[in-house]
Amino acid sequence: MASLYDPIGQLKGVAEKRAKLYHRLGIDTPYDLLHHFPRSYIDFTAPVRIADAENGSACALRVRVVQKLSPSFVRKGFSLFRVVVTDGENDLTLVFFNTPYTYQAMKAGEEYFVYGKVTGGFTRREMHSPQTQRCADAMLLQPVYPQTVGLTSAMIRTNVAASLAILDEAPIETLPPGLLRAYQLMGLTEALHAVHRPESQAQLDAARHRLAFEELLQFQIGTLMLRHRSGASSAPAMSPDTDLSAFYQSLPFTLTGAQRHAVEVITRDLCDARPMNRLLQGDVGSGKTAVAAAAAAFAAKNGFQTVLMAPTEILAQQHMQTMTEFLAPIGIEPVLLTGSTKAKEKRIIKAAIADGSAKVVVGTHAVIQKDTEFRSLGLVITDEQHRFGVAQRAALAEKGGSPHKLVMSATPIPRTLALIIYGDLEITVLDEMPRGRLPIQTFAVTGGYRERAFGFIRQHLDAGEQAYLVCPMIEESDQLENVQAAESYAESLKSGAFSAYRVGLLHGKMKPQEKEAVMAAMKAHEVDLLVCTTVVEVGVDVPNATVILIENADRFGLAQLHQLRGRVGRGKAESFCVLVSDAEGQAAKERLNVMVKTNDGFAIAEADLAQRGPGDYLPRADGKIRQHGEFPGVMSADMNMLKDALDFSAAVLERDPSLSTMPELRAEAEKLFSANSRALQ
Ligand code: ADP
Ligand code: MG
Repeated sequence: MASLYDPIGQLKGVAEKRAKLYHRLGIDTPYDLLHHFPRSYIDFTAPVRIADAENGSACALRVRVVQKLSPSFVRKGFSLFRVVVTDGENDLTLVFFNTPYTYQAMKAGEEYFVYGKVTGGFTRREMHSPQTQRCADAMLLQPVYPQTVGLTSAMIRTNVAASLAILDEAPIETLPPGLLRAYQLMGLTEALHAVHRPESQAQLDAARHRLAFEELLQFQIGTLMLRHRSGASSAPAMSPDTDLSAFYQSLPFTLTGAQRHAVEVITRDLCDARPMNRLLQGDVGSGKTAVAAAAAAFAAKNGFQTVLMAPTEILAQQHMQTMTEFLAPIGIEPVLLTGSTKAKEKRIIKAAIADGSAKVVVGTHAVIQKDTEFRSLGLVITDEQHRFGVAQRAALAEKGGSPHKLVMSATPIPRTLALIIYGDLEITVLDEMPRGRLPIQTFAVTGGYRERAFGFIRQHLDAGEQAYLVCPMIEESDQLENVQAAESYAESLKSGAFSAYRVGLLHGKMKPQEKEAVMAAMKAHEVDLLVCTTVVEVGVDVPNATVILIENADRFGLAQLHQLRGRVGRGKAESFCVLVSDAEGQAAKERLNVMVKTNDGFAIAEADLAQRGPGDYLPRADGKIRQHGEFPGVMSADMNMLKDALDFSAAVLERDPSLSTMPELRAEAEKLFSANSRALQ
């Protein structure tokens, strides 16, 4: 009998080639496929009349086929397949370009749901490349899956149907019946059916609720297990009499109150044999690195080594520069270890790390986690420019020995949420900016102002400054389409408004080295204007960049907008952020207005939480940031659900620490938090 845990290649209708595509998405079994949730649904529940269909916007229609026109072969490689349909009042022509399949399958006289953009005047209305379904066996809410090249939603739907058939033979459940009753949760088998083939919006909502609750539970339980695990070991207890006055005296500034407080708390932790597990949260520019340097100086004075790990080569170099600036004056010379360190140099540095003479080591995660031997490692600092992935945290907890650990994050998270998300860490917040920093001026404008905004950017480029331009994102499309859109957008700027400037392009599909090369060029001012999809992954400091323009700003979450805005305002000159949006809705306008009114990341995070719920903040198992509009369960979570999950997991672990009554849940939580999971590779 087929099982949900068989290799995906054994599923009916999945040949080798498609199995490969699934593997690329991290889908190895039918079980995984059932947990590959739709990103959205095409709503066929309320089809409109052709007469009411708004020109240029997508809508669903219920129509009957009047006539299939003969295919017209316009020229080599370009043919049109047209079908005339009616809704009983008006006619409309469906047009398929080069793709005969749907056309061939449609039958005269039969009824279909069609979905797509309606164009043309009132006399000759058309719908190009529509989604179609026979009414006889239609899904009223038709799932649209996150796509990858070569895998369409239709293919995924077919394979999901085969997986659901296997599920029906052997239904599964991960939560105990008492819990399902207490929180009125839908059963897992039913929920998986409903999320892939919803019969109504209400049923879909109930299914999402159940799946979200379970995801949160896994997360909470994993976090609590992690806390438990790291509490057991012991770390070096340093001396509370350690004198940092030389360090303070040689700093080029005085610490802010928040920085001083953070240093106090951290050094107190370092004097305790219980390993520190602390998150240092502070908005971009709040001065986390100076705090890290103080902690490293403290450890060094005690004879212990500190390692500072950054996610990318450029960030590591940046940290190396800053740490050297802060520490060299008191006689501590940091060393740098990254992928591009030459073999010979690497050997020398590694020897210095092994014999303990290198007191502060800066580098990339990848290089340092691989076979670096420390003589007396006392403190591990991790710089996460953004959200700190669950699996990375687990890896850190499992790292050899048990040094003190400090995680730095630049994502302001509302306190209520931080307590949940970082349940295994103590939290310190830098909620004060160094004095004298100019606030970034933010403007929200419509597309009509674009040309003027470009002119404004040119003025700044002419003054020798640099700028970022964040491309329009195409919703409901895959990454490849977005890359193509970014490329053509960059091309049009290069040959148009910015033909006199050096324009660079950065997008998500580029290899890490390519990205780093582009960022290095930006940093070196070999690029004036950097066009990018989301530069979210890039925490690079280009103090000379003073303007950022964000297209389709309404499509981003506030937290993400704030992160993007933080790319500017890092130097002495006044900086500007231009948010371009043609969104009509009141909610969208209010959101952008929050950005215009404040530069305070924590205030923005609170507003975001109130408006959109906590989904955006919850890290995914793979450590990636959830994208606005992405479906997975927790996107629909609300704070109440989060609190329920927290209460429940705490109560369960209290009563049954090994989770013997919920083996499936335990297994999922462990998978989520396993350092060896795919997430880390
Ligand atoms: P973060 O990593 O939190 O974004 P950094 O540590 O990179 O911030 O600090 C941003 C800039 O502010 C750096 O140029 C740093 O030298 C400077 N800085 C840090 N602390 C202070 C302070 N207390 N007063 C003035 N400047 C500071
Ligand atoms: Mg920093």
